[in-house]
Amino acid sequence: MELSSLTIRNFRNLASLDVAIPSSGVVVIGDNGQGKTNLLEAIYYLVLFRSLRGAKDRELVRFGEAGFFVAGDAKPRVTAGYEINHRYKKVTVNGTEVKKLSSAVGLVVAVALSPADRVIVEGGPSMRRRYLDVLLSLSNPQYLAALTELRAAMKQRNAALKRGNATEAQAFDRPVATAGARVADTRHRWAVEWRSRFVELCTSMGESSEPGMVYSSRHWTPDGGPESIEENLKLRIERDLRRATTTVGPHRDDLLLTLGERETRRFGSAGQQRTAAIALRLLEAQALSESHDTAPIALFDDVFAELDESRQERLLLLIKESLPGQAIITAPRDAEVPAVLFERPRWRMTGGKIEQ
Ligand code: ATP
Ligand code: MG
Repeated sequence: MELSSLTIRNFRNLASLDVAIPSSGVVVIGDNGQGKTNLLEAIYYLVLFRSLRGAKDRELVRFGEAGFFVAGDAKPRVTAGYEINHRYKKVTVNGTEVKKLSSAVGLVVAVALSPADRVIVEGGPSMRRRYLDVLLSLSNPQYLAALTELRAAMKQRNAALKRGNATEAQAFDRPVATAGARVADTRHRWAVEWRSRFVELCTSMGESSEPGMVYSSRHWTPDGGPESIEENLKLRIERDLRRATTTVGPHRDDLLLTLGERETRRFGSAGQQRTAAIALRLLEAQALSESHDTAPIALFDDVFAELDESRQERLLLLIKESLPGQAIITAPRDAEVPAVLFERPRWRMTGGKIEQ
């Protein structure tokens, strides 16, 4: 997949950009705070119609402006605009406004790598669920549908719990359990399918302990299905009423990452967590290549900076395999970009503007 041109208006510090992007991609060099990450965030907005960094839409609007607009030609041409006042998000595909955002999610496919990805490994379970949700939503439309159903049912159940109405809340046990089991099952099967590749990737980046990756759920088992969730919902109704929220379901699950049987989140070193995070991104790249039948656009945000030379070299080899297509690479200095990646045009970014 390739992005041939990009238009940005009032997205963070990027006031106005109209650029053609070469098919190999570009290297973007610029001092801290000039807008390099913002540029990648704008591109990624066309993938999910949400911020890559988890920011709210209104935070993406340039200070003092009413809204932002991003457009990219990637066959199809996808545009996204947001207005603060009306809280209105408009997405178009080849000139036609889409009625449901979900139908446009994943038309542009990209994978972003950044040192901040370490939070996927080091952070709480919600970080890893978010990783799975994004990846599975992009690669599997049925997953996105199940997730949307689950969220809707959960929202209604929680609203009833807040009102203290147990009967009303329990009317949503079945919908939560049915959608929840589909979500948990897809996540579980993904982890089973990709576990050995995860191990391989960590090992080839120099990890010497035995890595592990399993989907862990307290209320669901592969054999138990929706019934396992429904039973647990029933059992915990008193607790749910007390806490005024649903405490049972896949929104409490985790993708357990381990090294030598110990949780990488708690016991891994910074470098080991970083390695596992890169492995997850490469898995994402591979999974999306398979589901979309094309290599995702690679967005590398200062990825090579903290890596020693041998890790850099190993990572470059893996990238060649998993992300062989267009790459947009940012760094504060030329020296932070490995030489082989420099076979691309270079842009300089200053104060949200690009000099080619
Ligand atoms: P680094 O090398 O430090 O990662 P960077 O070039 O990636 O820097 P960005 O994160 O892209 O920097 O840009 C940060 C700048 O964008 C900051 O100076 C910040 O003030 C500005 N910024 C963030 N949000 C907005 C916004 N909504 N409107 C205007 N400017 C913003
Ligand atoms: Mg940055």
